[in-house]
Amino acid sequence: MKTTGLALLAALLLLPAAAGAAAEKCRDDTMKNYAGKYILLVEGSVPTGEDGVYCCIGGRSALDILKEAAKGAAAVIAWGNCASFGCVQAAKPNPTHATPISKLIGKPVINVPGCPPIADVMAAVVVHLLMFGRGPELDAQGRPREFYGRRVHDTCYRRPYYDAGLFVDAWDDDGARKGYCLFRMGCRGPVTYNACSVTKWNQSTSYPIQSGHGCIGCSENGFWDNGPFYRHLPSFPGFGIESTADTVGAALGIGVAVGVAAHAVTTNIRKRPLIAETVKESSPAGQTEDEEAQ
Ligand code: SF4
Repeated sequence: MKTTGLALLAALLLLPAAAGAAAEKCRDDTMKNYAGKYILLVEGSVPTGEDGVYCCIGGRSALDILKEAAKGAAAVIAWGNCASFGCVQAAKPNPTHATPISKLIGKPVINVPGCPPIADVMAAVVVHLLMFGRGPELDAQGRPREFYGRRVHDTCYRRPYYDAGLFVDAWDDDGARKGYCLFRMGCRGPVTYNACSVTKWNQSTSYPIQSGHGCIGCSENGFWDNGPFYRHLPSFPGFGIESTADTVGAALGIGVAVGVAAHAVTTNIRKRPLIAETVKESSPAGQTEDEEAQ
């Protein structure tokens, strides 16, 4: 794919600069004049039930339009969890047979999931294609590794609290006010691959965890069916302190220390007073939880 002459077909279902017949003409002209050179950006899953009647645009099914537009595309990007994995439309029982783009067009697709995807990541993937004339390296789910290579948990600023076993147990408890880890409130950061904790949102202003809400795993395949939300993950892959948050609590109580896993637990538990002290020093009144209660 040559970068020169690459055209951008802004989106299959939504063209912000035009609407109606003007948008249709823009799409048709791009497909005709830049055959084999345009990048197709697709938003939304495609309902395939009943011959695609659940989503029709200008008298044609979304499925029909997608297949036509994909034919001459130099690269295809699926924007968001809907186009990448089906998202809420494809959640059980999926009455419209909503289907991800990669299963419909018979050519490679770059998945950029998220609900919504991060704007900086979207722009970066397009820029990568334009700069290098090829797509970025992808993971097993078709996501660019440079942005989906690490868990939200790995770069989360609340991670020290997780490691020290300091958790929020209710939305308005002292732990919540002190910014403790949201794992017990259902945070899925430990099993979610995305760049939210690094790039953040709205010009790096914040992201869900910084706003006090756990990650809901919106960049993962089938995240609506992986629920329920707001219940902590019973367990997930990892060693020692990552086996479960409840294990941490138990270890705090009985002081078990056996083998490598237990070493990881106890090492992080030792940090707990230090972290609690840091919270104390940074709080306006410099008070501990116990002092505040008195
Ligand atoms: S469980 Fe969630 S809030 Fe806690 S450290 Fe991991 S990503 Fe951050």
